[in-house]
Amino acid sequence: MGIINVKGTHDIIGGEAENYSYVENVMSQIASFFAFKQVRPPVLEHSELFVRGVGESSDVVRKEMYTFDDKGGRSLTLRPEFTAGIMRLIVQNKLLPISELPLKLYYCGPVFRYERPQLGRYRQFNQFGVESVGHASPYADVEVISLAYTILQSLGLQNVTIKINTLGDEASRDAYRAALKDFFKDKVENMCEDCKMRYQINPLRILDCKVPSDQEIVKDAPKMSAYISEASQKRFSQVLESLKAMDIPYEVDDTLVRGLDYYSETVFEFHYVSNKGNDYGAIGAGGHYDKLVHEIGGPDAPGVGFSFGVERLVSVLCDDGLLEQADLPLDAYVMPLGIESQKNALMVANELRVLGYRVDMCYDDVKLSNMFKRAEKKQAKLAIIIGEEEIKNEAVVLKNMETKEQITVSLEDLGNKVDEILMEKGE
Ligand code: AMP
Repeated sequence: MGIINVKGTHDIIGGEAENYSYVENVMSQIASFFAFKQVRPPVLEHSELFVRGVGESSDVVRKEMYTFDDKGGRSLTLRPEFTAGIMRLIVQNKLLPISELPLKLYYCGPVFRYERPQLGRYRQFNQFGVESVGHASPYADVEVISLAYTILQSLGLQNVTIKINTLGDEASRDAYRAALKDFFKDKVENMCEDCKMRYQINPLRILDCKVPSDQEIVKDAPKMSAYISEASQKRFSQVLESLKAMDIPYEVDDTLVRGLDYYSETVFEFHYVSNKGNDYGAIGAGGHYDKLVHEIGGPDAPGVGFSFGVERLVSVLCDDGLLEQADLPLDAYVMPLGIESQKNALMVANELRVLGYRVDMCYDDVKLSNMFKRAEKKQAKLAIIIGEEEIKNEAVVLKNMETKEQITVSLEDLGNKVDEILMEKGE
């Protein structure tokens, strides 16, 4: 075989690409209903941004970044997530402070992680997400969760479970870290190399370890809930009460800690099991953060955000039959009789395209019956035939593929006639 795609990447073709656009459009539109504004940060950032922003104890920074030196000797990284880049964008462009907080932004695009590729897990994949920055209100968390929930509802997804937890404020996490250090003190020697490192940098990360023998040890570790400060407990109760009042279902899961270091207070994940019973795990996730903007050189500004994996969303929607994987049908297929008529066929096709119709034409010198077969295959609503005679009379033959009715129409009237036929069908 010749050159193939890079491991962990995937081509998105035809109907599938339309599905991606559809999902991204629904998400963008709903974010804009919630008064979020779009931003497009670059894919490339200085590596230091992610080390400082995402945290050096996270798996993403330690093992999964696509980092390289450019020809000028700068260490650059293909973004492994959006949040740190958005914080940089906010600080550098002085988007804060503003008179009315929070600053609400949404984004969509590819991210890159050097993970082990498997079903639904890629090295280049797309994320859509939002950040609401600058207000500590618990209701900013609720607004962001309700935005994510509205997106899932609008896409038609029924079996969503929202898992939610609080990591508490800094004091709560310091107390919990100390308790974990104490608990793992005489156990860490027998744990994996990663856990030995996590023990030193951030023992909270040990709770995410996937090694089965380590998971056995983790089971008996102290629980976060016992170390949450009163203020954080109160804040979390406000979040939960508000979700309840808005009929947004949730499950409190006190094992949820999330893999990125910047989270504090509320963290959440959206899990999905398809109607056929396939468990997709987390299709999206997010949480509140306190220090991130400051970490990147900006003012003290808390924030909350989430991101969805677009690949995962498209997969669950297909699984539940909520997306068609076929290419969109044509409004018209233009069929030139002989190579000499192709130039005119192209002009006719373009005239209708400009009017907003989806039109294709035949480039092969094949029999009319063959062209009709092609028109049927493309589910064309109209076939437009153009030969020597029609060119001479400045007309075309228009065939309604459904009723089989066939008429000759002057080029001048073509647009109106197509409008008439397709409008009648409610197109
Ligand atoms: P995270 O930034 O790790 O919280 O991930 C947010 C969402 O991105 C997840 O819930 C997944 O839907 C998606 N995601 C994360 N990693 C991958 C991957 N390697 N391939 C495809 N989707 C992913």
